[in-house]
Amino acid sequence: MTYDEKFLREHNAHHLWQPMAHPRQVEGAPPTIIVRGEGVHVWDLDGNRLVDGMGGLWNVNVGYGRREIRDAIVAQLDELPFYSSFRGTTHPRAIELSERLVRETATEGMVRVMFGSNGSDAVEMALRVARQYWRLIGKAERHKFISLKYGYHGTHFGGASISGNTGVRGYYGPLLSGCFQIDAPFPYRNPFTDDPAKLGRACADALDREIRFQDPGTVAAFVVEPVLGSGGVIVPPDDWLARAREVCDRHGVLLVADEIITGFGRAGHLFGCRGYGVKPDLMCLAKGISSGYVPLAATLVNQRIADAFLASSGPEGTLYSGYTYSAHPVACAAALAAIDIVHREDLPANAARQGEHLLARLSTLAQRFECVGDVRGKGLMTCVELVADRATKAAFPRGAGFPEKVAEAAYRRGAIVRVSGGNLIVSPPLVIQRPEVDAIADALDGALQEVSAGR
Ligand code: PMP
Repeated sequence: MTYDEKFLREHNAHHLWQPMAHPRQVEGAPPTIIVRGEGVHVWDLDGNRLVDGMGGLWNVNVGYGRREIRDAIVAQLDELPFYSSFRGTTHPRAIELSERLVRETATEGMVRVMFGSNGSDAVEMALRVARQYWRLIGKAERHKFISLKYGYHGTHFGGASISGNTGVRGYYGPLLSGCFQIDAPFPYRNPFTDDPAKLGRACADALDREIRFQDPGTVAAFVVEPVLGSGGVIVPPDDWLARAREVCDRHGVLLVADEIITGFGRAGHLFGCRGYGVKPDLMCLAKGISSGYVPLAATLVNQRIADAFLASSGPEGTLYSGYTYSAHPVACAAALAAIDIVHREDLPANAARQGEHLLARLSTLAQRFECVGDVRGKGLMTCVELVADRATKAAFPRGAGFPEKVAEAAYRRGAIVRVSGGNLIVSPPLVIQRPEVDAIADALDGALQEVSAGR
């Protein structure tokens, strides 16, 4: 593919309105233009080769330039670029992928699949299906959703309403009513305890209290990321999710696992909830499902939910949720090829192995740099939290630019890491090997030395 370098530089950030960015700031400091990718590396317009420590946006799990996926996409374009999967028609890839996903999630007991194009769609679908489920079984008053502070569930109105991210909530109200956030099982920052052994129970108790306070008869579902991603890679205590499942069961509340980042291996198991031995009622998948080659998302439900729909005889059991591009054939073809790679190369195991090494390397930074408050991770979801004051854990003032400077210095040393508030997030493709893991850790180390010295 060719491009006009001068044209790109001239027009960069003047017309494209970017998510999560201030348009005026972007004009002053235009975004990096990435032009090519191969394996775990990308190249920018200046010709710099970088280890993609972000794996795209937590999604390019199988790495760039995978011939198998490209071939599947091209073959699908030749065969059938699009057909609708709304009532009346379907197509081979939709049938194959839904069967495949049900097989992949057999441990979790999922039996049916609905498709969308991105994570926000998957969450929206889960919320709509959860409410419809309760109506179908005659309990329409169960309409509330409980979720976690620091949680991120996308930017559709439903996902934003249950997110614990103040940005996506703050400027768009009033949001969906009946959504409540409780404190997250965040070992580094929580109002309950410094003892990680007690935190899982304390947070499960908080969930129990919130459900009782709301009145269990009004609560539809608890929505949770098994490991919280965008909120800063919050790795809950090992017992948390199972305890949360118990609390949900006690009150008849549905458990929705938002596996949009954790799905397909990133946290070291094929699915995040599998790592904790927990079976949710609904699962939301996106990102790694097609490794970013073509947008795709899926929402899966277990027998309990499916049965309620199957048992109804009237229109109330019709799924009035879906998109033109639900089960897009090209996206399904890409996903089938991407999932094959995940298994063939045992990427969950590689994520666990490389993630352990990455975390060990990053943990040494906390011993050497005063500005590193916490280092945490699971699989290839890792985070270095920078703080202005280690004793008080005070964050750097917003806009101070310290974390951004560290990320820029790491970039100059050949690694892309993502800044989110005071967090430096590292979540490379799951195909990464030790030399590139070391390259990211070395780049961050050098960057912290440089920026700390100039503080
Ligand atoms: N849920 C989670 C856990 C996510 O991490 C994201 C995206 N980062 C979303 C939902 C929304 O996905 P999308 O940006 O594809 O709409």
